[in-house]
Amino acid sequence: MRPGRIRYLREHNPARMKRIAIFPGSFDPITRGHANIVRRAVPLFDEIVVAIGVNSAKKYMFPLEQRMAWNETVFADLPTVTCDWYEGLTLDYCRKRGGTFMLRGIRNGGDFEYERTIAQMSRYMDKGIETVIMFTDPEYAPISSTLVREVLRNGGNVDSFIPPQIAIHA
Ligand code: ADP
Repeated sequence: MRPGRIRYLREHNPARMKRIAIFPGSFDPITRGHANIVRRAVPLFDEIVVAIGVNSAKKYMFPLEQRMAWNETVFADLPTVTCDWYEGLTLDYCRKRGGTFMLRGIRNGGDFEYERTIAQMSRYMDKGIETVIMFTDPEYAPISSTLVREVLRNGGNVDSFIPPQIAIHA
């Protein structure tokens, strides 16, 4: 075989490619549900990028810097997990980071329908990126960032919903 061909195969061999997964979301704020999915996915990938998607049309409760700092604190003990943020299409960000997997978590039937549509849409747009869906552990199924924000707005305590590494007070 020609040396050029051998080099090409070495560089493009799927078995040798670094498996990078992007875990996109708003993380407004990060919850125990998010952390559960990422920790369980660690053995599956060489690298997981927890990426905050910034949508200028969306109003967030917490500033990007704060959400980034919380994500970094929560995953500080995991050397293969990095935190980042992006604007624009998630698929474009995946390509830019060399991600070939999109990690998502689902809690219930509602999430399932939503995630299925997004995953199938993604495949229309890029066959090189696979969506990997994980079911949440049951104790985290009722937890959402929306619920955490609602409790905080009403002066409640969210300690049991957010990862133990961080503290958020109303
Ligand atoms: P988005 O704005 O894209 O819904 P989120 O930050 O709410 O972003 O969620 C990011 C990902 O984490 C989504 O795949 C979502 O379904 C998943 N997720 C959120 N909460 C939980 C949970 N409690 N258990 C498992 N997965 C969750």
